[in-house]
Amino acid sequence: MKYADLHAHTSESDGTLTPEQLVKEALKRCLSAVAIVDHDTVSALPLALKAAEGTALEVIPGIELSTQYENQEVHILGYFLDHQDKGLLDELKPVRENRIRRVHEMIKNLKILGIELKPQTVFDIAGSGTVGRMHIARALVKDGWVGSTAEAFRKYIGDRSPAYVLGFRFSPEKAIKIIRDSGGVAVLAHPYILRNDEWIGEFAASGLQGLEAYYPEHSQSQVNYYLDLAKKLNLVVTGGSDFHGSAKPDIKLGAVKIPLELVEKLRNAKR
Ligand SMILES: [Zn+2]
Ligand SMILES: [Zn+2]
Repeated sequence: MKYADLHAHTSESDGTLTPEQLVKEALKRCLSAVAIVDHDTVSALPLALKAAEGTALEVIPGIELSTQYENQEVHILGYFLDHQDKGLLDELKPVRENRIRRVHEMIKNLKILGIELKPQTVFDIAGSGTVGRMHIARALVKDGWVGSTAEAFRKYIGDRSPAYVLGFRFSPEKAIKIIRDSGGVAVLAHPYILRNDEWIGEFAASGLQGLEAYYPEHSQSQVNYYLDLAKKLNLVVTGGSDFHGSAKPDIKLGAVKIPLELVEKLRNAKR
């Protein structure tokens, strides 16, 4: 059997492996395909595609866009998009500024809670990639405020935690449009976090084409539930590990993987 992991992050967003290292890791894990879906950026893709040239690995170009819907953060994945599309790159430019502003706001909230974090610590960890909550979590670990990034999310910066700030530019509908306009297939990421499953039908009506049914946090009964729902709504099914390297040390690349035939269904959804 050949397998794909359709949810991996690199150091261009909040993962810890460079695009080249991620390609090596995917080959080591005997994956046939890996999708790189960095948060709000496609900058890893040229590097990863080049690194995979002449190997048995297919790198699937992707992205994970952060959106908000009824005061909740919702992530929309895009697959097989044209990562050089000008329209896509133009939409992504202001997102970067927005993310920097959001980090400063969360650092202010942490200060109210008695936690002094220097913005520069966070930005140094992020390096040249898009900055986000995982970098704040790693800064909190580095300065000794928490023992792990998971604890940072649980106590301070997870959804609805005291220092959390919601503030994304796009609605799910807009993100779906951006992905489809650049030739991609739009898929809802980790649906278990949604407060209301009726939203999935609403997103489907806005052009959503797939559902990430296989995900580390999904129980078998949740997987079955999402497989059923995908069938009802005529959505393709995807899955992946949400690999972040050592930023999420318990999740290995390929921890969740799907048979290649599902990748072909996803590819066909482009047409
Ligand atoms: Zn996500
Ligand atoms: Zn992700």
